Formats: sequence, C-alpha cells, structure tokens
Amino acid sequence: MSERVSRARRNPSENNNKPASRAVDQERLEAAVREILLAVGEDPDREGLRETPERVARMYAEMFSGLGKDPRIHLAKTFTQKYDEMVIVRDIGFESMCEHHLLPFMGKAHVGYLPNGKIVGLSKVARVVEILARRPQVQERMTEELADLIMEELDARGVGVVLEASHSCMTIRGIRKPTSLCTTSAMRGGFLSNQSSRAELMSLIYGSRTS
Ligand code: ZN
Repeated sequence: MSERVSRARRNPSENNNKPASRAVDQERLEAAVREILLAVGEDPDREGLRETPERVARMYAEMFSGLGKDPRIHLAKTFTQKYDEMVIVRDIGFESMCEHHLLPFMGKAHVGYLPNGKIVGLSKVARVVEILARRPQVQERMTEELADLIMEELDARGVGVVLEASHSCMTIRGIRKPTSLCTTSAMRGGFLSNQSSRAELMSLIYGSRTS
C-alpha cells in the first residue's frame, strides 16, 4: 500500500496583503479598547497608549478576518484522479482566537482523507484551516468543522483531522501550564469505522516525528 505524505507549510506573508473581506467597525473597536483601558484604571491619553486602540482594532480585524469568508470555495475546485490511497497534509500551522477569553491559541493541524475519485490542491486545505482559524473559535469545534467540510466537499470516503494547540488562556492565566498542549481529533467515514485506517493515519502523522 502506498501512501502519499505531504507537508504544507503555510507562508505567513501570503495573506497579509489581502483586506478583510468584511469590513469590521473600526471605530467601534477603538472605542471598546479605550473603554477597557479606562476600566482597568489606565489613562488612554498618555503617550504610550494613545495609538493603542487603533492598533488593537487593526489586530482584531486581522485575527477575525475569516468571519464572513466561505471556506468551501477553496474546496470547490477538485481534480478527478484515480488515486484511492490516503492523502495526508501535515503540520499546517494556524493561529486562532479562543472565543471564551479572546486570547490566542496556536498550533498545527493535520488532515488526512481517503479520496473518492476527487482530490484537492494541498494548499487549499491550508486555506480552509486559515479561514476557520481566523474567527472566534473553540478548538474542538474547529476540528469537527474542518473534518465535515472536507468530507462533504470532496465526497471523501473518510476524513481524519488532528489539531494540536497551545492555548494562551491556559498558559498565561488561570491554571498557568506553559507547556500544555491540547489535542483534538475528528474521524469520519473510513477512519471512524476502520481501526487499522485510523492507526495508519496516526502513525503517518506522528510516526517520523523527531521533536
Ligand atoms: Zn480560552
């Protein structure tokens, strides 16, 4: 059985030039950040903080730029290919924002699927991860959304998604465990019903890992 293991590393500079598809209310964001500063007892008009509301507003626009974007468009263009072995895209870096604390969580996504005559460009999987990440998120939900999208759009025979991330809300506040890593997985189709397919997927994701 031959497998194709592919790595797609997202180039962070790739998306920086694109404006958010949906304009955020910059003024409202700035006013809100100013309120936060006032609420914690700061002086938002002192020199160091004067431009902070504007900067933070721009940052939020970027972090939430996946809102209003449809990830399905990246999976719409598929190629007909008689290839029915596992396809794996490993180590897709992502940065997201925990919707409970509005603090970042970041890590890697690994996606495997069993094609059903249709394959998709490997970079497209990374695009989908990017759109799902750039929203207020919960890692568990993001994992399931990613699996369902690929399953549905590619009409795949199976999909397995594993996300590993470090959550700022766990590392810098509350329980403060700086080395903790949260792993979530979602299995669909053949990866759910067939234990050996699932084991093979896991060994391809983790097998040759050096770190
Ligand atoms: Zn959180």
